[in-house]
Amino acid sequence: MRRAIYPGSFDPITNGHVDVICRASRLFDELIVAVASNEQKKTSLFSFSERVDLIEQVCRDARNVVVMHFDGLLVDFARQREASAILRGLRAVSDFEFEFQMALMNRKMEPGIETVFLMPREEYTYLSSSLIKEIARLGGPVEAFVPSCVAKALEAKLRAK
Ligand code: ADP
Repeated sequence: MRRAIYPGSFDPITNGHVDVICRASRLFDELIVAVASNEQKKTSLFSFSERVDLIEQVCRDARNVVVMHFDGLLVDFARQREASAILRGLRAVSDFEFEFQMALMNRKMEPGIETVFLMPREEYTYLSSSLIKEIARLGGPVEAFVPSCVAKALEAKLRAK
């Protein structure tokens, strides 16, 4: 069974993430979307369980996609889950340097796991969770960039603040 892990903070999941998940679910037998608990990023808008819940709602119909939590070293998690690949999305050249460094470091620590990069549809290449949060905070429309459950959750979260 070919299993891949797609790690990230997903705060919140956007159409760019969804695009990458759909592409990868056609390439692998199982895709684990691994939500980082994010000790360094204490500034998450959504709690860990809210982020997981939103991804589960969005991926409900995808048979081979599972959502899990992870903390600690990604390669340890990938080994435990017997994954052969780590999946990352590449948007622009600006992603490249960081991703290149991470991929080579992960390969050094675990040569048996390949990092695979997928590009989303062009219209999602400028999308990021932080930009979406900023637009939502300023009262702008986010419906075109995130699944509808995420747009509703953003509205409710910002209203509550
Ligand atoms: P991280 O904190 O690990 O960067 P993110 O949730 O921001 O977590 O992103 C997880 C992965 O998804 C990263 O590989 C990132 O490059 C990718 N990604 C984020 N937004 C997009 C997008 N719009 N299109 C394609 N890939 C994306």
